[in-house]
Amino acid sequence: MQVQRVVLNSRPGNNGVPVPEHFRLEETTLVPELKDGEVLVRTLCLSVDPYMRCRMNEDTGVDYVTPWQLSECVDGGGVGVVESSRCSTCSEGDMVTSFNWPWQTNAVMKGSVLQKVDPQLVDGHLSYFLGAVGITGLTALLGIREKGNVTKGAKQTMVVSGAAGACGSIAGQIGRMDGCVRVVGICGSDEKCRALVDDLGFSAAINYRQEDVPTRLKERCPNGIDVYFDNVGGAISDVVIAQMNNNSHVVLCGQISQYNKDVPYPPPLSEEIQETLRRKNITRERFTVLNYMNKADSALCELSQLVKSGQINVLETVVDGIGNMGDAFCSMMKGGNIGKQIIKLSE
Ligand code: NDP
Repeated sequence: MQVQRVVLNSRPGNNGVPVPEHFRLEETTLVPELKDGEVLVRTLCLSVDPYMRCRMNEDTGVDYVTPWQLSECVDGGGVGVVESSRCSTCSEGDMVTSFNWPWQTNAVMKGSVLQKVDPQLVDGHLSYFLGAVGITGLTALLGIREKGNVTKGAKQTMVVSGAAGACGSIAGQIGRMDGCVRVVGICGSDEKCRALVDDLGFSAAINYRQEDVPTRLKERCPNGIDVYFDNVGGAISDVVIAQMNNNSHVVLCGQISQYNKDVPYPPPLSEEIQETLRRKNITRERFTVLNYMNKADSALCELSQLVKSGQINVLETVVDGIGNMGDAFCSMMKGGNIGKQIIKLSE
């Protein structure tokens, strides 16, 4: 069987900006002969995610992800269908997902790394298992619930950075649903700002590329900021933290503005920001969704219900074809996506 796959062609270096040429599309022959425990899958859709940037480095700098190897098939979140199986837990026609799905049109995988998914949970919209009813939805929901201290009736204001992305777009909606009276998003274009307010019910949105963020934040958060869902770090987060209230909370979800720099995670804060955190008693604990997988099943059920009932709207940017994996990854890293970036390989 002829298949196409994407391999890592070269590394950007710890301080480099990833470009599509760091990836290479190849044709190869797959012998679909299965050993015990293996399944043949057809890939339906793949995810590109910011954490993959550190997998492009020789050393990822974190212990829970391994670097991609040069000229070897790249992997990440994926959803597909079982075409044949020699594994007792998977049958032909099952829909399955994995965090380590090869960027390949068809693949032989161990059944033990696959989780079966029920298409009814997403009304047949399988790519949601990579986003709103998958890891980015979980990150938003559990991040807020574990670190956000959102309290009904407390009239809190939440700010979300990276607000129009996969995690941010869900985080803002959960913040509002859980009781925040004002949810303000920060993102990189006017089109994204419009989507946040018109489609997702954010109270206001700020385009950090065009507007003066400190001034606009003051206008949009007249009572200060009680919860900050931080996806980006860097200068934007410094400005938000400076306007946070006493005893407020940062959900330290991600720091994408620093991912093309050779700095540890989380990147060190300036002395001034550290002093603000101390003086105002602001909590800022690192949140890693993988540490809360014992809560994943019930959280995924909740997300499924919220999406199916329309209480949460899902935005996606979908491109077609395995040949566009590299472009889609690099575009997402620069803000080309609204909502979750998905690559569709087959129906
Ligand atoms: P997104 O869908 O949000 O895509 C990334 C977005 O980041 C882009 O669309 C872009 O939007 C924004 N961005 C890129 N560069 C910058 C910059 N220099 N300054 C400000 N914004 C920038 O990705 P995800 O939702 O998948 O991930 C969001 C964050 O959540 C990441 O930091 C990621 O690492 C983190 N994460 C953390 C997890 C955890 O367990 N803690 C799990 C999953 C994700 P714009 O147009 O607004 O610039």
